[in-house]
Amino acid sequence: MQRTAIVTGSTSGIGLGIAEAFAAQNMNVMLNGFGDSGDIEATRARLDTVGTGVIAFHGADMTKPDEIEDLVRSSEKLFGQVDVLVNNAGIQHVAPVEEFPVAKWDAIIAINMSSAFHTTRVALPGMKQRRWGRVINIASAHGLVASPYKSAYVTAKHGVVGFTKTIALETAEFGVTVNAICPGYVLTPLVENQIPGTAKARGISEEEVKRDVLLAAQPTKEFVTVEQIGELCKYLTSDGASQITGTTLSMDGGWTAK
Ligand code: NAD
Repeated sequence: MQRTAIVTGSTSGIGLGIAEAFAAQNMNVMLNGFGDSGDIEATRARLDTVGTGVIAFHGADMTKPDEIEDLVRSSEKLFGQVDVLVNNAGIQHVAPVEEFPVAKWDAIIAINMSSAFHTTRVALPGMKQRRWGRVINIASAHGLVASPYKSAYVTAKHGVVGFTKTIALETAEFGVTVNAICPGYVLTPLVENQIPGTAKARGISEEEVKRDVLLAAQPTKEFVTVEQIGELCKYLTSDGASQITGTTLSMDGGWTAK
């Protein structure tokens, strides 16, 4: 049977890696995210050739509940149903809490946390009715532990972990699993963009941020890759993973073992 997935924030980085993994599994995929419209169409067209599934795009802004609802409803209309929901869209801002811009706090809470509620509440009834579904929330190692200067992000990611556990309990008898993946550092635009802010906040160079802050957190001293996260998502959508629910799966090079 041909499964259909929505991957929020899949025009870049981890979401794009997950969409590629799903496309290679012959799934239909609804892409979402921001970017240059020509680049997005080129990505969509490229993924469309990867497998037998259809790849589409919806530009819902994850701060806008009505647009998020339309993303799910449009996907159901186009593909007939939504089997897999990956809540991945996210942004970051690095600053001490006293200087944290209020608008950035609100945007991070909306995009990184509340959007998962808005997609899930609309996608779940169909999954429960068909007695099969997978919700995968891309949290973070920062859903389990904290780092200074990332108050909004750490708050949102801990919230996503709590949401994951709650919805897993609500869906446990309906063939639906709900899990959170907690990656360590992945070298995507989200991480590259926070390097200057971290350097400023800590008074060190950007090279030192990479070596002494980012990779210092990861005992393997290696970045996680988007392909590795795609593989884990593929596994979570398999029948072999049907008893994994309500939990966090770390992929962080040993970060949270410390
Ligand atoms: P990225 O910047 O490469 O991609 C973010 C995606 O979200 C893009 O497609 C972007 O267009 C989209 N997006 C941003 N704001 C949006 C909005 N308002 N509405 C719709 N889409 C929006 O970042 P990434 O590193 O791939 O991050 C993806 C997820 O993984 C995030 O939730 C992030 O917190 C999480 N994560 C990243 C890392 C890392 O090291 N990169 C580690 C742990 C968790």
